[in-house]
Amino acid sequence: MKKTIKDLDVENKKVLLRLDFNVPMDKDTHKITDVTRIMESLATINYLCEKGAKVIICSHLGRPDGKVDEKYSLKPVADKLSQLVKNKVTFATDTVGKDAKEKIKNMEKGDIVVLENLRFDKREEENDESFCKELASLADIYVNDAFGTAHRKHASTYGVAKLLPNAIGFLINKELKVISNVLVNPTRPLVAVLGGAKIKDKIPVIENLLDKADTILVGGGMAYTFVKANGGRVGKSIVDDENLCKKFLEMSKNSRAKIILPIDNICNTSLESKDKPKRFLSDEIPDDYMGLDIGPKTIKLFKKYIKKAGTVVWNGPMGVFENPMYEKGTRKIAKYVARTHAFSFVGGGDSAAAVVKAGYSKCVNHLSTGGGASLMLLEGKDLPGLEVIDDVKE
Ligand code: AMP
Repeated sequence: MKKTIKDLDVENKKVLLRLDFNVPMDKDTHKITDVTRIMESLATINYLCEKGAKVIICSHLGRPDGKVDEKYSLKPVADKLSQLVKNKVTFATDTVGKDAKEKIKNMEKGDIVVLENLRFDKREEENDESFCKELASLADIYVNDAFGTAHRKHASTYGVAKLLPNAIGFLINKELKVISNVLVNPTRPLVAVLGGAKIKDKIPVIENLLDKADTILVGGGMAYTFVKANGGRVGKSIVDDENLCKKFLEMSKNSRAKIILPIDNICNTSLESKDKPKRFLSDEIPDDYMGLDIGPKTIKLFKKYIKKAGTVVWNGPMGVFENPMYEKGTRKIAKYVARTHAFSFVGGGDSAAAVVKAGYSKCVNHLSTGGGASLMLLEGKDLPGLEVIDDVKE
């Protein structure tokens, strides 16, 4: 078991707290459009402040590619945080530079300093040793509560943890507990709904779930490789590693989980076409059409499984949901996952966004804050950001 902040004495100590403050922002106004990630971090921030720590928060925001870029500044996040906590919040205009050091030097117990975007320094994503050392020199203790980046081996999520006494925060702890319950001790039947386009990302998840889940419902672009491997006609739909899918379909004959593929699809001649989409059965998509959403028969079929589930895990959209012509499958699945009596777990990223957009975020039992990280746990792998955290001594 990993150490949590409750295992540490933080009184009067400088705590470097890695959070996921990678919040969505309006492109033009730079205003935060969704504060969920900040809200999810409050439990850990407040706990550390109440225990008398000096809390030095670090995070990335967007992809500034190692260069200072004002539009990715964490200043608006620091401002928002100062409205949400009762403690003093100060913003440092750099990360390991003069301003950060100065502001940290002036901290009192319970104060918070938010450092500027870690990714303004290219050494962050390189897990550069010198950057790890500079980060470590700012604090006495390191706490990771950035579940959304726990699958990354960066300086602030990995390297620095090796240099300081460390622990995880409440958010990571909660995410781990939920996923481990889902995988180890789920209320059955365990139904996994997998979608999205990149089959390579989801293959290890399917592999891990074959003996754990009872049913794996496959939708989205990734379904067409399976449909083709199963002998279906998929036209111009995206197709990846057919042989791998053949292997899984073969394996699923003897595994606990049965793989269920779409039976009908909403198709068009291209993603850009303005023509009215047409519905085709999965083995009858004409050569000049591509599948862009699951069809009504598939929605009904998937609903039947979701309704009867004891636990539902959902990761990945059922179609090109960004386009209103192809969002119905994803929207309906969001509704069924939210309304099921089963324990519902929604991986971060697109599926979580779909749940929020459809207004069901309160109905889901667990809406993960990390798409990549939850996917990695569903694959049965360890998160690098967690590997480096000390275990509790027996
Ligand atoms: P992923 O990152 O693998 O989870 O894929 C997410 C992306 O898959 C979204 O941007 C969707 O637009 C895309 N997607 C879902 N279904 C399809 C499809 N049938 N054809 C092409 N792209 C798709």
